[in-house]
Amino acid sequence: MPRLHHSSFPLSRRALLAALVAVPVHASIRVGGARFRVVQRGSSTRRYIHIHGNEATAREILIEHMRTASGVAFLVEGNDRYVPANSGKLDPNRMFSRVGAEQNLRRLNPGWSRAQVERILDGLDRDLPRLLRRLLPPDGGLLMSLHNNSEGYSIRDETGISDRVSLKEPDRPHEFFLCTDPLDFERLAASPYNVVLQQKAPPDDDGSLSRLCALRGVRYVNLECGLGRAAEQRERLAWAESHLS
Ligand SMILES: [Zn+2]
Repeated sequence: MPRLHHSSFPLSRRALLAALVAVPVHASIRVGGARFRVVQRGSSTRRYIHIHGNEATAREILIEHMRTASGVAFLVEGNDRYVPANSGKLDPNRMFSRVGAEQNLRRLNPGWSRAQVERILDGLDRDLPRLLRRLLPPDGGLLMSLHNNSEGYSIRDETGISDRVSLKEPDRPHEFFLCTDPLDFERLAASPYNVVLQQKAPPDDDGSLSRLCALRGVRYVNLECGLGRAAEQRERLAWAESHLS
């Protein structure tokens, strides 16, 4: 935060408050081996997250967005998809349930003993509530997540397990919204972009943030774009920001 200088023209109370509100507040929060930079700007029920460190376009677009948007953003530190878990690793988008985190730890660290896995899971159980208290928006608020995909993953992987699908850009399967709230779906379906609704948590507990939000009835919108497609991600984020309440 910049130092406020005394001058011969003292700031009015209103101007002082406006100056303070315009300055992003930085801090960080740790969950297991994952650390998130927290950027707070203004006062709003909007929350944002960038959770996979290797998805550089999403990070760039979210940082840029927070120069003007109001809300709290959580940006994972590091440039890897996985975060450290003692001597091993964990996909941070699988840490939102004990079942999902356990499956992921066993898959990524095949040589681990039961005790090694349990130790990480116990640490997550301790740390997660603190993150969720700040990350999940207050009632009616919206959590937006930004991801990038490469050739493999696209909307085609989601249509079969979604409640509703709006495919405005069938030739752009890598660019799409995934949301948990039917009203957000209605609004996004009026956009020129692709969107799927997954209102019910999938029966398979993968420990993802989207599943947790579906389970808890939290409004969640994930914006997926191909890695490197900054203009596309910027355009869709701006559309969602101005059309979702
Ligand atoms: Zn991702």
